Amino acid sequence: MGTIGRRRLLESAGVLLAAGGIPSGGIAAPAAEPNPGKPLQLADFEPRSMLHVPETKVERSRYPLIDVHTHLSRVAKNTHGVGIGEVMQYSAPVEAVLPLMDRKNIRIMVNLTGGVGKGLDEAIQKFQTPHPDRFLTFTEPWWERSNQPGYSQFQADEIVRAHKVGARGLKVLKTLGLYLRENVSTGPLVKVDDKRFDGMWEACGSLGIPVAIHVSDPEAFFLPIDGFNERFEELNNHPDWSFYGRDFPSNSALLEARNRVLARHPKTQFIVLHVGNDAENLSYVFDKYQDRILFGTDAVPHGTETPQQIFTDQLYEIYYRFLETEDEYFDYAPAKVPPQGRWRIYGLGLPDGILKKVYHENAARLLQVKM
Ligand SMILES: [Zn+2]
Repeated sequence: MGTIGRRRLLESAGVLLAAGGIPSGGIAAPAAEPNPGKPLQLADFEPRSMLHVPETKVERSRYPLIDVHTHLSRVAKNTHGVGIGEVMQYSAPVEAVLPLMDRKNIRIMVNLTGGVGKGLDEAIQKFQTPHPDRFLTFTEPWWERSNQPGYSQFQADEIVRAHKVGARGLKVLKTLGLYLRENVSTGPLVKVDDKRFDGMWEACGSLGIPVAIHVSDPEAFFLPIDGFNERFEELNNHPDWSFYGRDFPSNSALLEARNRVLARHPKTQFIVLHVGNDAENLSYVFDKYQDRILFGTDAVPHGTETPQQIFTDQLYEIYYRFLETEDEYFDYAPAKVPPQGRWRIYGLGLPDGILKKVYHENAARLLQVKM
């Protein structure tokens, strides 16, 4: 049952309860006895759902897919979390990626972290040049030059150069706002709406290429890593992902700065990643913004650190199940314990028209590709 079906059921259940009170032997269970058992490590708690609900396997997306958010290459980061230089790291060669794309009906993968300069040239040559109909590459800002005189013009010119060699957009990691400092690694944090980047945003607008931007992070990452944090296990596994305390701006200050950038550059098209980095506030987003939603997994070939992102068949099957079916209460990541918080998800059962837009029509229009 989809969101609408579920909503109706809850409404009618509400009426039932209001009319008849709580049936005996139903919801009102007797208070639990104190647990005399041994303590259990949270990491060992792997409860299996006892719900008898349908499990639909969706091996291929119903329509061809453009995954607008993947990381096939990346620039090495310095110890302060800022990507520096033109040496690229690759998580998989193109031959390893293509068979999975074919199995999962992925027509195009957008490699957002294509780097700069010679690194960008190389990333394009590895994926996009041999398979221009399967891979697109985005460039990134030259963070290490951001404190040098003339940076604004240099960066704008570099966008033009990147576009000439084949870059189809610009990716801005959360580096901006959370890692990049006035002296690159030291000094005060550079603001998301700092004017030195205006030339860069404008250059993308004039060239008609989108900016994929990640600003801030989940709200829980700005709170203490304690027993009240809904993403405790994730932050406990990755304490460096926490932006609590120190000199970090608040989540809302970061998003407001981002919104000022969007307002200042109305001719530039921004892809606000991770549901606008505001996924806690989803409300009817799929119906209302069906012409502006893009499919992106944040997939990274290989690794075990972040199971919700590893480029596998299972990863895509979860997304397809979420979007296409009305299955209830299933895992959002191929992992024994939900890695980003102990909740499960419900299928949206999107209608065909919306599904097609989300799978490729919206992205094809934005990236100017033919499907
Ligand atoms: Zn990403």
